[in-house]
Amino acid sequence: MKVETKVQAINCLHFINGHFVDSQNKKIFENINPATEEVLGTVAEGGKEEVDFAVRAARRALNGPWKTMTLTERSKIIRKIGDLILERQEELARLESLDTGKPEWLANKIDIPRAAYNFHFFADYMISVGTEAYQQDDQALHYSYRRPVGVVGIIKPWNLPLLLLTWKLAPCLAMGNTAVIKPAEWTPMTATVLMEICKEAGVPDGVVNLVHGFGPSSAGGAISEHPDIDAISFIGEPSTGTAIMKSAADSLKKLSYELGGKNPNIIFADSDLDDVIETTLRSSFINQGEVCLCGSRLYVERPIFDEFVQRFVEATKELKVGDPLKKDSNVGALVSKEHYDRVMSYVEIAKKEGGTIHTGGKRPEGLEKGYFLEPTIITGLDRNSRCVREEIFGPVVTISPFDMEEEVIMQANDTHYGLSATIWTTNLKKAHRVAHQIEAGIIWVNTWFLRDLRTPFGGMKHSGIGRTGGMHSLDFYSELSNITIKL
Ligand code: NAD
Repeated sequence: MKVETKVQAINCLHFINGHFVDSQNKKIFENINPATEEVLGTVAEGGKEEVDFAVRAARRALNGPWKTMTLTERSKIIRKIGDLILERQEELARLESLDTGKPEWLANKIDIPRAAYNFHFFADYMISVGTEAYQQDDQALHYSYRRPVGVVGIIKPWNLPLLLLTWKLAPCLAMGNTAVIKPAEWTPMTATVLMEICKEAGVPDGVVNLVHGFGPSSAGGAISEHPDIDAISFIGEPSTGTAIMKSAADSLKKLSYELGGKNPNIIFADSDLDDVIETTLRSSFINQGEVCLCGSRLYVERPIFDEFVQRFVEATKELKVGDPLKKDSNVGALVSKEHYDRVMSYVEIAKKEGGTIHTGGKRPEGLEKGYFLEPTIITGLDRNSRCVREEIFGPVVTISPFDMEEEVIMQANDTHYGLSATIWTTNLKKAHRVAHQIEAGIIWVNTWFLRDLRTPFGGMKHSGIGRTGGMHSLDFYSELSNITIKL
C-alpha cells in the first residue's frame, strides 16, 4: 500500500531582515516526506555568511522600533502572532505532519494550538508580572530592572518543530530581544511560515531571522560560534549541547538547554490500572514515541506485572500505524531514514541482549515505503542493557518488574538523564515520598504531559541546564540590574 499525499509543501528560504532570501552560493538540500520517502521540496542551506547577515540585522533591530515601543504595544504584536497561527492552523498542521511524519490530527490537536498558546500566554504574562523590590528599613529601596539579553540564537530539534520553537521565541520577544533561529534540517517548513506570520503581525524587520542548515560546519555551528550572539537557547541531544557549549565558550554566551530523557514510569500495584493503561499508551507511543517526555522505561510492581504486560500489549496491538494524513492513524512515520535505522538498531540490540519482544519491532505489513515501525514492547532486559539506559526516541518501551520502593527509586535514578518521571499510585503519602527522591525536573503523579506554562520546565543531570516556563523563561531572556536608591 502506498501512503497518499495531497501536498502543498513549500520550498524553504532563509528569512533575514524581514525578507526571504536564498543562500549566497544558492546551495540547497532536499526535504523528504518520511511517510512516502518522496521529495517535498527544497531548503536553502545556510552557513557562516547567512548567519552573519542575520546577526547583523538582529543587532541593528535591537535599537530600532522594537526597543522604543511600549510593553503593551509589544504584547499586542506577540498576541497577534498567536492569533495568526490559529488562523492558519490547518495549513500549519498539514505542513508539520508532512515534515515530521506525525499524524495530522495530532498536529491539529496539540502542536499548532499549543504554538499559538505559547504566544498568547507570554503576551499576557509579560505585562502582568511585577518586578522584585525590597525596602531596607528606612535606608534604601532596591528594585530590579529588566532589559533584553540581546541577540539570541535559537537552535531547534525536529520532533515538535513549531511547538518548541514558539516555546522559546515567545518569551524571547516578550523581553525585547531579537533572534536568529535555526530549525532542524529535517523539519524546516512551519518555522518558515512562522516568519511570514511574524511579519504580518507587525514584528519589525530584523527582529526575527531564520537560517536553515545543518549542525557543525553549517548554520548551527555558525550560530554557536558567532561572537555577536549573546545567548543560545538550545533543545536537542546532550552530545550536541556539549559541542555548542564548547563553541560558545569563547564568547561566554548565556545558555539554556533542554536535552534528552530516558524517563521512568513507575507503576505501583495500588494504582488504577484502567487509567494507567490509557495514559501509558499515550506516554509511550504518542508522536511515535518521539517526545522528550515520553516514559520509555516502565517499572511495574511485581503483583500486577503479568496483568499489566498482558493488558498493555493488547491495547498497543490496537494502535493503528499508517498514513499520517488519515484520521484513524494513531501512529505515523518516524522522522527520517537515519532516525528509523537508529531506532531499529535498538530492537536488534534488545534481541541480542535476550529481551522478549511482545509486540512490534518491525515494519507494519502493507507499508513498504515510509519509516513506519510498529509500537514495540520489550521485557526481560537487564538494567545494564543499552535499551534500558539509552534514549531511543522512538515507539519502543521496556518493562521491568520491581518488588521494593527503594529498589525502583534506585533504578529510576540509575541514568545520566533527569528530565521527567511519572508515578502511579493511589497512596498520596507514597506519591510525595517517591516524587521527592526521583532525580527529574518534571514529575507527574497519576497523569502525564499535564502542563501549566507558569511552572518550571526542564531537566537535571544530562537532561538540561536551567528552567523555562513563567518567570524562569523571562529570567533567561533578560538581564537584571539591581538599582539601590538611598532613602
Ligand atoms: P540534535 O541535537 O541532533 O539536533 C538539534 C539541533 O541542533 C538541530 O537543529 C541540529 O541541526 C543542531 N545541531 C546539531 N549539531 C550542532 C552543532 N554542533 N552546533 C550547533 N547546532 C547543532 O537533536 P534532534 O535529533 O534534533 O532532537 C532529538 C533530541 O532532542 C532528543 O535527545 C530529545 O530528547 C531532545 N529534546 C528535548 C526536549 C526537551 O524539552 N528537553 C524537547 C524535544 C527534544
